Amino acid sequence: MSQSLTIALSKGRILDDTLPLLKEAGIEPTEDLEKSRKLIFPTTDPNVRLLIVRATDVPTYVEHGAADLGVAGKDVLMEYGSQGLYEPLDLKIAVCKLMTAGPVDAPEPTGRLKVATKFVNVARRYYAEQGRQVDVIKLYGSMELAPLVGLADKIIDVVDTGNTLKANGLEPQELIAHISSRLIVNKASMKMKHARIKRLIDQLAEAVERRNA
Ligand code: AMP
Repeated sequence: MSQSLTIALSKGRILDDTLPLLKEAGIEPTEDLEKSRKLIFPTTDPNVRLLIVRATDVPTYVEHGAADLGVAGKDVLMEYGSQGLYEPLDLKIAVCKLMTAGPVDAPEPTGRLKVATKFVNVARRYYAEQGRQVDVIKLYGSMELAPLVGLADKIIDVVDTGNTLKANGLEPQELIAHISSRLIVNKASMKMKHARIKRLIDQLAEAVERRNA
């Protein structure tokens, strides 16, 4: 049984913050991922390769076993529904908050609330728990625009500094969840490649601990 590993990552914040952790576990891509248009990258460990996929696709690749492991934001995992995956380690990177936001000082709308977001499952769950009737409007980006042009009363989005909200006359309102990136593992891989994956999880856990000490 081969102990080769495929790890799915997405470009941007997650890749920037994950590469130093992988490096501490002895895994480095052999070329600059940001400069290449390739999607599969060998690493300094001949048995480990990296896949570059869209952030929202990472859980799909891992759940279906096309990748053994992946790194995904908790926001993406909450939206995807992660029952089909193991989530053994909080990497404590790409930290932010999933929040509702609306126009500064706007009165709470009466009647049915319109909420624009790419996190439609999260939004439905959140308002259902509160017994609140809402219309959830699916968007793929630039959520901040929706309340400004009357598409929605509020948005649900990840917020880091809050500068993007502020620049658009919006303010963060309710906290839905604290977000950070998680290591996720395919369930079958965890069984079949247990020793190799356990070693990687331990190495990454140590690297995370050193970084946050
Ligand atoms: P902010 O610092 O709040 O202005 O965030 C800038 C933009 O980056 C916002 O539109 C957020 O949607 C996005 N963002 C911030 N932090 C994260 C994160 N950890 N993961 C994904 N997107 C993020």
